[in-house]
Amino acid sequence: MAGTTRVVIVGAGFAGVACARRLAAEPRAQVTLLDRNGYHQFQPLLYQIATAELAPRDIRFELDEMFARHANVETRTGDVVSIDPHTPSVTLADDSTVPADVLVLGAGAQPNFFHTPGAEQHTLPLYSLDDAERVRGRLLELFRDAAAKAELIDDGALTFVVVGGGPTGVETAGALAEIVHDVMPHVYPHLAIAGARVILVDLGHTVLTAFSDDAHGYAVKQLKRRGVELRLGVPVKEVTADGVTLNDGTEIKTRLVVWGGGQMAAPLAFRSGLPQGRGGRIDVRPDLTVPGFPKVYALGDIANIPAADGEALPQLGSVAQQAGDWAAGNIIADIEGEHRQPFHYRDKGIMAMIGRKAAVAEIGPHRHELKGRFAFAAWLGVHAQLLANAGAEMRAFAAWLDDFYLRPAHRSAELLDPATIDQPRIRKGD
Ligand SMILES: Cc1cc2nc3c(=O)[nH]c(=O)nc-3n(C[C@H](O)[C@H](O)[C@H](O)COP(=O)(O)OP(=O)(O)OC[C@H]3O[C@@H](n4cnc5c(N)ncnc54)[C@H](O)[C@@H]3O)c2cc1C
Repeated sequence: MAGTTRVVIVGAGFAGVACARRLAAEPRAQVTLLDRNGYHQFQPLLYQIATAELAPRDIRFELDEMFARHANVETRTGDVVSIDPHTPSVTLADDSTVPADVLVLGAGAQPNFFHTPGAEQHTLPLYSLDDAERVRGRLLELFRDAAAKAELIDDGALTFVVVGGGPTGVETAGALAEIVHDVMPHVYPHLAIAGARVILVDLGHTVLTAFSDDAHGYAVKQLKRRGVELRLGVPVKEVTADGVTLNDGTEIKTRLVVWGGGQMAAPLAFRSGLPQGRGGRIDVRPDLTVPGFPKVYALGDIANIPAADGEALPQLGSVAQQAGDWAAGNIIADIEGEHRQPFHYRDKGIMAMIGRKAAVAEIGPHRHELKGRFAFAAWLGVHAQLLANAGAEMRAFAAWLDDFYLRPAHRSAELLDPATIDQPRIRKGD
């Protein structure tokens, strides 16, 4: 259509969806939102899928439903295999090419195994809904097998290792400890659950390093209280099909290792030919475009977005979402012949949930510290905005989360049954 700007967005994560949402109100933009899955996934709650607390559909938001009312946004399911920043255009796995006037890259991250032998083959990362479902399937399978054959426990069938003491690792270890120690004894009353272990390994000497010393101490105490064993200050040397070896020679027999040990830019960044910096992420200018390519934006986890002090902003949902919205604003500025604006991040702080009634948060740019219920409320406030972006029905989600936070641990039979797992427990808004 003459007079319109074709915007092709790769990746429907927090960045891509926020960008498309703002452009949806701009009739002079014709948007194609491409994602290999055809849905947006709410990553902050992946660990709850992995530990059977939520059903996959609870955190999965279909793109065609999300943009059904916006004629200028076309959603397409497709795997982008390469991009040409010069034309610009993208090529999909089916060999088709989608031309653009403006290209927005929001393809996210992938796990970084740091060349740890065996890690890629024998650990399960937690970056997508598919990953989370794999962890959950393996966890339930191991309990079922151990219930049928108790000797397997001595071979590590009920020993679960989490690598990485950042928010993902801490949240996963806390939630695993809960299902292992509080839920499964009711499902398998005759199983010797006392032999079950959850072990968190990190080469650093504490967990949640981005937080204050006080928060480190609190997190360590809460994890231990939940029965998580901590192996800190020691790197993983090797992972095999039946165990993990640490650098100090410790051998841990296990059949499930969750990798939360680090991340780098999505593979597309490495195939883009664009300048990459730390973590393989694409370096961008303050206006979020790639240097030398004023019609190409890179946003969220695939980009190194400069903060006011010149450092790169962290890989967070709120950074990605605000950058998506901001990039759309700059695209509209271009359409209107106005100047683009340098990205300004409104810092919401950092937070992590360790388990029921245990969370830590450092709020705002001045890092006001909160713990327990107050930190949980802060988590809810910040993540409500991310959820609203996806179109979740907030009241239902908040009620569920409050319930999760306060009530004793339990799981419905459906969540522990792979056959009925896809039933949503949380309603979606429109
Ligand atoms: C387990 C976990 C927990 C987290 N918890 C929090 C939290 O509590 N709070 C917080 O603020 N942040 C959290 N984060 C970080 C936050 O989720 C990310 O910073 C955010 O998702 C980045 O958004 P994005 O849009 O850049 O990428 P993503 O959300 O990762 O989206 C990328 C999208 O691109 C698609 N894609 C990738 N490659 C291709 C391709 N070649 N072709 C087509 N599509 C492609 C993917 O399918 C995906 O939908 C967490 C992350 C993880 C992994």
